[in-house]
Amino acid sequence: MKNLFLYCRAGYEKDCAAEIQQRAAELGVGGFVKANRDEAFVVFQGFADDDGDRLAAELPLDSLIFARQMFACGDLLSDLPAEDRVSPLTAALGEVSRGGELRVETPDTNEAKELSAFCRKFTVPLRQSLRKQGILLDKENPRRPIVHVCFIGPGKAYAGYSLSHNSSPHYMGIPRLKFPADAPSRSTLKLDEAFIHFIPREEHETRLQSGLNAVDLGACPGGWTYQLVRRGMMVHAIDNGPMNHDLMETGQVTHHRADGFKFEPARRNIYWLVCDMVEKPARVAELMEYWAIQGWFKEAIFNLKLPMKSRYKEVSQILANMHAILKENGVPEFHLACKHLYHDRDEVTVHLWLKPSSPWI
Ligand code: SAM
Repeated sequence: MKNLFLYCRAGYEKDCAAEIQQRAAELGVGGFVKANRDEAFVVFQGFADDDGDRLAAELPLDSLIFARQMFACGDLLSDLPAEDRVSPLTAALGEVSRGGELRVETPDTNEAKELSAFCRKFTVPLRQSLRKQGILLDKENPRRPIVHVCFIGPGKAYAGYSLSHNSSPHYMGIPRLKFPADAPSRSTLKLDEAFIHFIPREEHETRLQSGLNAVDLGACPGGWTYQLVRRGMMVHAIDNGPMNHDLMETGQVTHHRADGFKFEPARRNIYWLVCDMVEKPARVAELMEYWAIQGWFKEAIFNLKLPMKSRYKEVSQILANMHAILKENGVPEFHLACKHLYHDRDEVTVHLWLKPSSPWI
């Protein structure tokens, strides 16, 4: 297939477009991008017939900041006839063989979401037809390609596939998280999503285990601290503001009324550093670099508030600088990843893991 369809947050199409254009070029894939403001998706149109296939296979979704999900696809199918949308979609998906799952989706906009009920109903006859043609297996299989159909309007859809090892496990790339009734702020969901996104499920037991020590910079009223406490961690919460009373009652939180840019941990036993201070992104990055060079944590999750313009350029520049500075300062092995998560608004979330050569807990 020629094209690559990418889901992003509405309003971030330009950033997603700039990113895919650059990343495709780095892989030697030429093409141009179709992106309209507030449509919550971008289509990279390749020049060669298999450019979409190449990108779906060779470009790791996790390495993209602004794309929540992506799939290789053909051209837009417009004017799908109301009386039979199944046949043209089945024909368009003819190159896919033995898919493991079907997702009939929409972009994440209010207008497109009006099609959600239709998508749910339509999944049933489409699935039957795709199974008959061998495009889908009779039983769901998580190791086979995922077949995507994305309706961008009534009778208008892109159809294609993603590879299960290079795809979001979530419908439309959006994890469904429940807001805990006793959490002190809605931003608690940002850290919950970050843990789910950056830490593989099978590693939660070690890397998010009970008893680990954590520092939360800019902690109040305590939404992020709540996620650490919920997992049984002991938290130093740094903020001049008031901390949620119930969290303090757990006995797991020490509240330091201090400046997050000056605070230093008294002991070298911090596993998690998290930071949600509203500050210039370059200043937050510098602070994280300092903590990493001092070896004051093993893993960090922090937000970078985004500027109004050139958001992709600015974030990628900050990440490139961070990479270079950590290397220059002899931080031996680390993993740096960044994502515009569903619960992020005008910010992105960064994960920095100082990978140990010896056991790290
Ligand atoms: N993560 C928190 C939660 O989930 O409840 C929300 C954090 S809020 C977006 C930002 C916080 O950073 C504010 O409470 C503010 O007081 C704090 N903050 C900003 N600058 C700070 C600084 N220099 N030192 C400590 N805290 C700071």
